[in-house]
Amino acid sequence: MAAYEYEVHEYDVVVVGAGGAGLRATLGMAEQGLRTACVTKVFPTRSHTVAAQGGIAASLGNMGPDSWQWHMYDTVKGSDWLGDTDAMEYLAREAPKAVYELEHYGVPFSRTGDGKIYQRPFGGHTTEFGEGPPVQRTCAAADRTGHAILHTLYGQSLKQKAEFFIEYFAIDLLMSEDGRCQGVIAWKLDDGSLHVFAAKMVVLATGGYGRAYFSATSAHTCTGDGGGMVARAGLPLQDMEFVQFHPTGIYGAGCLITEGARGEGGYLTNAEGERFMERYAPTYKDLASRDVVSRCMTMEIREGRGVGAHGDHIHLNLSHLPPETLAERLPGISESARIFAGVDVTREPIPVLPTVHYNMGGIPTNYWGEVLDPTPDHPDRVTPGLMAVGEAGCASVHGANRLGSNSLIDLVVFGRAAAIRARKVVDPKSEVPTPNRASIDKALERFDGLRYANGTVATAELRLEMQKTMQADAAVFRTDKTLAEGCENMAGVASKMDDLKVTDRSLIWNSDLMETLELTNLMPNALATIVSAEARKESRGAHAHEDYPDRDDENWRKHSLSWVNGTDVTLAYRPVHLEPLTGQDAGGIDMKKIAPKARVY
Ligand SMILES: Cc1cc2nc3c(=O)[nH]c(=O)nc-3n(C[C@H](O)[C@H](O)[C@H](O)COP(=O)(O)OP(=O)(O)OC[C@H]3O[C@@H](n4cnc5c(N)ncnc54)[C@H](O)[C@@H]3O)c2cc1C
Repeated sequence: MAAYEYEVHEYDVVVVGAGGAGLRATLGMAEQGLRTACVTKVFPTRSHTVAAQGGIAASLGNMGPDSWQWHMYDTVKGSDWLGDTDAMEYLAREAPKAVYELEHYGVPFSRTGDGKIYQRPFGGHTTEFGEGPPVQRTCAAADRTGHAILHTLYGQSLKQKAEFFIEYFAIDLLMSEDGRCQGVIAWKLDDGSLHVFAAKMVVLATGGYGRAYFSATSAHTCTGDGGGMVARAGLPLQDMEFVQFHPTGIYGAGCLITEGARGEGGYLTNAEGERFMERYAPTYKDLASRDVVSRCMTMEIREGRGVGAHGDHIHLNLSHLPPETLAERLPGISESARIFAGVDVTREPIPVLPTVHYNMGGIPTNYWGEVLDPTPDHPDRVTPGLMAVGEAGCASVHGANRLGSNSLIDLVVFGRAAAIRARKVVDPKSEVPTPNRASIDKALERFDGLRYANGTVATAELRLEMQKTMQADAAVFRTDKTLAEGCENMAGVASKMDDLKVTDRSLIWNSDLMETLELTNLMPNALATIVSAEARKESRGAHAHEDYPDRDDENWRKHSLSWVNGTDVTLAYRPVHLEPLTGQDAGGIDMKKIAPKARVY
């Protein structure tokens, strides 16, 4: 192995990732006087959060009656009863506070006539515990909500003197012999230097792994690096079989048309011009939850009612909406439709198709963001020194299916919760741990091995093979056969990781090496997804299994855990938290209201 030198930095807290979750955590930690570093592979405001269009859910009640209990109910139902009740209660309860904080930090929300934060309807958000009409709960800054949040949080973090290490690629976690996280090791992309960040607490906020699939709305940087690091540290991933397909990715390009488009009155039609969602979801129609709409679209296409020359997509109609509404509320998607589909939304429908959008699964945590290392006897055992927030984490509030606009609120609520928890568990006066030397050496050896990889398969080739396999075998509809084949195919793909070829050996702006590191992270995420999907013999939320079309609460209302080691995946399960934080007597939720039932919209 080549000799590597590295610089050592010491902090109370190191946050990896500068999307909405990472920045909210960084800001919260710095506000409390903890010495905080934020390490990010892309410039903070280029994180995928910048692309979030539709908005952020909170029961402010600005447009009509709403309550956190209704929001919680919708989240529970949306999760298809797989979310953890305590975490979902925490999310819905804290959401209004977190949004007002954003407002005070300076997020330029759209406004109602009387100056309140504007809120729009979004799929699956209802009133009266699902008995009433849809609610306007999604707070929006036009259709650029993520952009507005990210810029505001970055500015505020700088004001609090958080230190940013930008275009540093975190390679691996540094773990002590007894399983405590002591920091991360990172590679500075522009000069090739290596850096050990020693810390009392590491927060992973690395985002999702949408790029394990061929067609995804997520940025090319969404490669599940946090999940990869955790898997290599011997910790499990949770509920990875649940992958959300967004109903409206632009056909071909995959870019997103926000659900806000349907929230503002857009609707889907098939080749017969029929508004088919009225047939499947008579009450909420086009605003049923995402998994439901994606499945209905797929069914229409399979039954020969798709649009286009190949009958392989669906139309999203907006042209009946007043041009002023389109210009004011949906300017960004009007532009995307023009650029990526060549469509003028004031006159023509947009060609759309369900596209991979969000990962419900991720690194298991409690509702404080602390990473879990479950054992059969201690399913909620905490890994000291390690937290995970945002799409990388799994608290779990989205369970088997996430509601639209519930991710942005998850980022800020749990980014904030992690900071609140850190105040209790991180002592600013204690000494920063000295990371275990063996763990540093192991990370450097892996890095060096990839740098000089001299096999026969190019990284881009193998990545494409993985993406196509996942797209074909772990899709909207799944069967025993496709999943079994998928597991076998993915094992074959993953076994070629030993035969990778990296052509650039330098350390400066070596995108070949960086993409190879990313592929080593995508792969465990993809393997965990297909293996845990194959094992789950029921249909729940985004996991639609044709051979087991019903939800089976008796046997399967449990979180799956996957430990990935090379091409091997070991599965186990942990119980779903059924208890809320506060009972009805204390102003909390009435358990009868959220008891499992059929999920109909
Ligand atoms: C197109 C699109 C639109 C969406 N719209 C909405 C919406 O309207 N409402 C909603 O609620 N949700 C929406 N979502 C979902 C939501 O935006 C994402 O789930 C969320 O933004 C993820 O935020 P995050 O902070 O977890 O990660 P990201 O924003 O993805 O940030 C990840 C960060 O981690 C860093 N990072 C990753 N790996 C490394 C590494 N190895 N080393 C160093 N740094 C690393 C990156 O640099 C980046 O800063 C949308 C998603 C997409 C793709």
